[in-house]
Amino acid sequence: MSKNEELFERAKRVIPGGVNSPVRAFGSVGGTPAFMAEGRGAKIYDADGSEYIDCMSSWGPLILGHRHPAVEAAVQAALAHGSTFGAPTAAEVELAERVCERVPSVDLVRLTNSGTEACMSAIRLARGFTGRDRLVKFTGCYHGHADSFLIQAGSGSLTFGVPSSPGVPSPLAELTLTAAFNDLDAVRQLFAQHHSEIAAVIVEPIAGNMGAVPPEPGFLQGLRQLCTDNGALLIFDEVITGFRVARGGVQDLYDLDPDITTLGKVLGGGLPLAAFGGRREVFASLAPEGPVYQAGTLSGNPLATAAGIATLDALGSADVYAELEAKGAYLEKRIREAMARVDLPLCYQRVGSLATLFFVEGPVRNLDSLATVQTELYGKFFHALLKRGVAFPPSQYELFFVSLAHEEADLDRVGDAVAEALVECASSAS
Ligand code: PMP
Repeated sequence: MSKNEELFERAKRVIPGGVNSPVRAFGSVGGTPAFMAEGRGAKIYDADGSEYIDCMSSWGPLILGHRHPAVEAAVQAALAHGSTFGAPTAAEVELAERVCERVPSVDLVRLTNSGTEACMSAIRLARGFTGRDRLVKFTGCYHGHADSFLIQAGSGSLTFGVPSSPGVPSPLAELTLTAAFNDLDAVRQLFAQHHSEIAAVIVEPIAGNMGAVPPEPGFLQGLRQLCTDNGALLIFDEVITGFRVARGGVQDLYDLDPDITTLGKVLGGGLPLAAFGGRREVFASLAPEGPVYQAGTLSGNPLATAAGIATLDALGSADVYAELEAKGAYLEKRIREAMARVDLPLCYQRVGSLATLFFVEGPVRNLDSLATVQTELYGKFFHALLKRGVAFPPSQYELFFVSLAHEEADLDRVGDAVAEALVECASSAS
């Protein structure tokens, strides 16, 4: 039995399903998860000592790669002064100043420990500020696992919320209205039916949780207009895209102006840190200034803020985003060449350093486009990559990432592995 298998057996005895976050269990691709022991730059090593080029980036945070020297030094220096005080520290101010300076629509920002907390708090604030209860979210978008977000659409793109997890009370689920991503008409209809009841529209402005799905021209602008016209707030969930697709996220890239923005992943540089921020007038409603309650024992803790500051400082110039785009484009070219050599339904979608190779004819514009996606084939592809030393996410509905730590030789290794894996998939499909 390999060390990975042995650890998984032990884990299953004491941890539900053997993992602390479900998708890590390889449920949708089969097999035993690799237990990671070490990361260095663009490479990770599992408990059996196997090396992989890491294209998962821990689901997004590691834009600088593993153990970036500046991040490591900053965390060690912070630790030497104490790991938590439950009192304000200078580092929180320094990180908040950087966020407000970079993210165009953010005047004030509150730090949290996870993206889930940030999104959960953002909708509470929106509800408290507007005095309304309903939300609009998009099918296939993920905003963490708070009750109001675990809602799936029924058939069609317009529906009242139905909980997609037992434990979500129906009366709460009913307050979440859903529409298909990139379908402005569906949102228009929801506002026509419920205009004075909708507190907020929450959206991943470039969707990442059904794979990479960019907004169509006018979609986000249309949401902005509908929210403004109907007195609702627009919430951009930039937990993945913030500081990744551009210095100030999607809103910086496309010049947009949400009322509230949620951030996480890159912001914490690999430590548990997230945030929600936005318009001064809205955030005046948040405790202790206003009546909407939100809090956290470890919020803004010194280790996480040190990692966050060091990470943002390493992402200070436009050059790094040009480098990420160049690396993303290079890998895309390699993968498209491989795609052209096989007869499979495939579609590649990318924005900068985030991308998905879909096993379906594209383009993918929302969850409906994925009705015939071949997830089983993705599972084969995933394992074919893994055995060639390339770690992609263990699910078709996810992104893979290029980081600043990926050298051309690493990207070539990924490109070669993808080419061989696609040939393997094509022969098994025929
Ligand atoms: N929003 C988005 C867009 C996410 O991708 C995620 C996590 N993948 C979250 C929110 C939740 O963040 P966390 O896992 O840190 O709770």
